Amino acid sequence: MKITICEFMDEKSVQNLRDRFDVTYDARLVDRPQDLARALESADALVVRNRTQVNAALLAAAPRLRVVGRLGVGLDNIDVAACEARGIAVIPATGANALAVAEYVIATSMMLLRGAYLSSAAVAAGQWPRPQLSEGRETAGKTLGLVGFGGIGRLTAQLAQALGMRVLAYDPMLDAGADVWRATGASCSSLDDLLRAADVVSLHVPLTESTRNLMDDSRIGLMKQGAVLVNTARGGIVDEAALARALRAGRLAGAALDVFEREPVPAGSNLADVPNLVLTPHIGGVTRESNERVSAMIAERVARRLLGPTTNEEHPWQHVA
Ligand code: NAD
Repeated sequence: MKITICEFMDEKSVQNLRDRFDVTYDARLVDRPQDLARALESADALVVRNRTQVNAALLAAAPRLRVVGRLGVGLDNIDVAACEARGIAVIPATGANALAVAEYVIATSMMLLRGAYLSSAAVAAGQWPRPQLSEGRETAGKTLGLVGFGGIGRLTAQLAQALGMRVLAYDPMLDAGADVWRATGASCSSLDDLLRAADVVSLHVPLTESTRNLMDDSRIGLMKQGAVLVNTARGGIVDEAALARALRAGRLAGAALDVFEREPVPAGSNLADVPNLVLTPHIGGVTRESNERVSAMIAERVARRLLGPTTNEEHPWQHVA
């Protein structure tokens, strides 16, 4: 059976698949659509990250395809309905990169609350901006507001509570009496109450019609003076122009964006030179460790789908929180 892997996958997991299957692995195949289409003519499985558009045209080039493995969790680059219609299983690496994202949220929250880590150039140049940097805030005792309380939101809550933060969460799929509130120690909140109370607001929702532009001028306006906003979820959930205005006006103390309305961010974007804004290129879920976990999970699940349920399911990520 043949597997095509057209974006980066951890080498150990590629080898694991090579031991059992006929594997074509080329991390740059995604950038050569004709070669990709040729590889797909005989592929039983396809493994992608988030750059490959698994759409009707790609599926038409893959007549034998039975499974698509996604090295990550968001499925916005995959036409899941078209796959279902063809009986093609779509397998995301649910949970395997959650810890990387949760740590990103905690690290950027602490950095932006303290406000002291963006002055290396000034200090090295002989300035001594002590007065300006002496008003930083500690993390313990602050309130974290999580918008979306699924896998990543819950793991972030656990890390935040270990630092002494109070956690509020808004998730319309979870009613106030759900067991999850007692189990996690987070408090159920409405969105508006959460925005008014939180020192840090972190987004953990999928991009849907109800979450598009969720953080617009008026919702950012509800946030506390001096609060921090972190978006590791999806671009399009935060109105970038509204956020830039709030940061320039000093309404918010800082923000971290890992995901954007357009990726890569176009040159000349309104996010350039905005104060206290940390920008990263969609790497919230990507670390050495999570790469290994994600790749191992997808290798195993794709293999199981192709061979039947005979392989070992025990993996390190099952022990991560
Ligand atoms: P999840 O499915 O476990 O949780 C999402 C939660 O959002 C669910 O509990 C759902 O009920 C809730 N939700 C849906 N609509 C909502 C709304 N309108 N308001 C509030 N809550 C709503 O997903 P997850 O694994 O926790 O991932 C969360 C997000 O993080 C996803 O968008 C995912 O694509 C993104 N992500 C980003 C990276 C990265 O590298 N930056 C890595 C992994 C995941």
